[in-house]
Amino acid sequence: MNQDLNIIWLKRDLRTQDHKSFEFCEKQNTNYIIIYIFEPSILNYGDISTRHLQFVYHSILHMNSILKVYNKEVLIFHEEAINVFNFLSNKFPIKNVLSYQETGIKISWERDLKIKKFLKYKNINWNQFPRDGIMRGISNRNNWDYNFYKFVNSDLTVNSFRERKKISFDNPFKIKKKLYEILKQYPLQYQKPGELYGWKYLVSFCEERFDTYNINISKPKKSRLSCSRLSPFISWGNLSIKQIFHYIKSHKNFNIYKRNFNSVLSRLKWNCHFIQKFESECDYELKCVNRGYESLVYSNNYELLNKWKTGFTGFPLVDASMRCLIHTGWINFRMRAMLVSVLCHHFDCNWKLGVYHLSKLFLDYEPGIHYTQFQMQAGTTGINTIRMYNPVKQSKDHDNDGSFIKDWVSELSEIPDKFIHEPWKLTPIDYDIDKLTYPKPCIDIKKSANIARKKIWSHRKNNLVKLENKRIINLHTRNNEIIKKRN
Ligand SMILES: Cc1cc2nc3c(=O)[nH]c(=O)nc-3n(C[C@H](O)[C@H](O)[C@H](O)COP(=O)(O)OP(=O)(O)OC[C@H]3O[C@@H](n4cnc5c(N)ncnc54)[C@H](O)[C@@H]3O)c2cc1C
Repeated sequence: MNQDLNIIWLKRDLRTQDHKSFEFCEKQNTNYIIIYIFEPSILNYGDISTRHLQFVYHSILHMNSILKVYNKEVLIFHEEAINVFNFLSNKFPIKNVLSYQETGIKISWERDLKIKKFLKYKNINWNQFPRDGIMRGISNRNNWDYNFYKFVNSDLTVNSFRERKKISFDNPFKIKKKLYEILKQYPLQYQKPGELYGWKYLVSFCEERFDTYNINISKPKKSRLSCSRLSPFISWGNLSIKQIFHYIKSHKNFNIYKRNFNSVLSRLKWNCHFIQKFESECDYELKCVNRGYESLVYSNNYELLNKWKTGFTGFPLVDASMRCLIHTGWINFRMRAMLVSVLCHHFDCNWKLGVYHLSKLFLDYEPGIHYTQFQMQAGTTGINTIRMYNPVKQSKDHDNDGSFIKDWVSELSEIPDKFIHEPWKLTPIDYDIDKLTYPKPCIDIKKSANIARKKIWSHRKNNLVKLENKRIINLHTRNNEIIKKRN
C-alpha cells in the first residue's frame, strides 16, 4: 500500500452498490477515505430544509452500518467544501478525488468550479462519474434516448470491499451541536431513509403494489400506496436508476404485468430526461427557461401566497394536499401540478415565489426535476401545452369520496359528504354553519381561470417567446419530440 490517499466525496449517491467511486478505490493499491460535507452556505440556501438533511444523515448512518465490517465509515464534515479540501490536502498526499457529477443549482455549481480550480492547483485529479445516464456538456438531444437505454441496460457495478487500515485523524469540522441535535432525530411521518429501505420499497412495489399503479396514479390517497414511492431514494442516491431498471425488468411479475411496470420505467426515464434539461441549463432555478416569460407581470398577492403556503385557501383539495405535504413530505404528481397551477394561474403569483416553498417540503427534492416541472406547470417554458387545473374538478375526479380531504382538513371531517368538494355551498339546513371554522374560498376560481388563460396564451405571441421556443427545442427536446412536432 503506498502513502497516497484517495477521497470519495459523496453527494447524491448515498449507497454502497452500483457505485463507481467505490469500485475505483477498491481496485487501487491506495488507501481511501469517504467523506460527506454539510456546507453551511448550502444548508442556509433557500431550497434546502431540515427533512432533507435528516434523510441524508440517516442514509449515511445506514451506509456506515454496512461499511463498518470493512473498517470503513463515512466521515462527516460541517464546513465549506473548499476549507475541507484545503485541510485534507495539507494533511495527506491526496491523489484522486472521486465523486458523481452533481446536477445542482447555481450555488453548488459555483462551489464545484471553485473546488475544480483548487484541486487542479494542488495537482489532485478529480474524477466525476456521470450520474444515471445524464450527460455533461451536450448541446442537443441527438441520440440521447439511445444512450440512455444503452446505459440502463449495461451491467451494474457490483461493489466489493476489502478491509484496510483505518485512517484516523482529528476532524476540526465535526457537526456542530445545534445541527447534530436536529440531524439525529428522524420524524416518523417521513419515508425511512437509506439503501435498505429503498430496496424494501422497490421489492414491495414489484411484489404487491404494482397492479393498481396506473389506475390510482392521480388519486391523492390511493397513490400513496400504489405509486412506487421510490422518489426520495432516487433523489438522494440510495438507489440508482440502473439498479431499479435491472430489478424491475428481471422480476417475475414484469412479463405478466408489463403495462404497469412499463409506466414506471418510462417515468424513470422522465426523471433523467428532466435532470438532463437542468444539467444543460441550470438557470432554470432562477429564470424562466423561456426568457420571453420574464416580462410577464403578476399581481403577487402575498395574502393569497400565505394561504397557499399554509393550506388555508378555502379549496379543500388544495389545502389537503399542502397540509399532507407539510406533514409527510410526499404528494403525488397530479397534486403537485395542481398546487403550482393554483399558485401561478389562479392566484396570479410568479412561480419564483413558491418554488422554494415546495422544494423544502418535498422529501424527494431533486433540483433537476423540481425547477423544470415547476416551470412546465407554471406555463413559462413556451413549448409545452399549458394545463390549468381546476381544484374543484380535480377534487371530484380524484378524491370523489372526499376521504383524502377528510384525512387532512379536519374542519371538514363532519360535513355531509356531498359538500366535501364545495363546502361554501352548505346552507344552514345542511349543517350548523356557525360551527364551521374552514375558510371560504379566497378567490372566484372561474373568473381567475379565465383571466389567467387569456394572459398566458396571449403572451405566447410575444416575439422573444417565439424566438426562445426555437432555442429550447434545439437544446432540450429529444429527436422523436421534434419529429412529432414537424409532422
Ligand atoms: C411541480 C412539481 C415538482 C416536482 N418535484 C419533484 C422533485 O423535486 N423530485 C422528484 O423526484 N420528483 C418531482 N416531481 C415529479 C413527480 O411528482 C414525483 O417524481 C413523483 O410523484 C414521485 O413519486 P413516486 O416515486 O411514487 O413516483 P412513481 O410514479 O412511482 O415514478 C417512479 C419514479 O419516476 C420518476 N418520475 C415520476 N414522475 C415523474 C415526472 N413527472 N417527472 C420526472 N420524473 C418522474 C421519479 O424518479 C419517481 O420516483 C415533481 C412534479 C411536479 C409537478
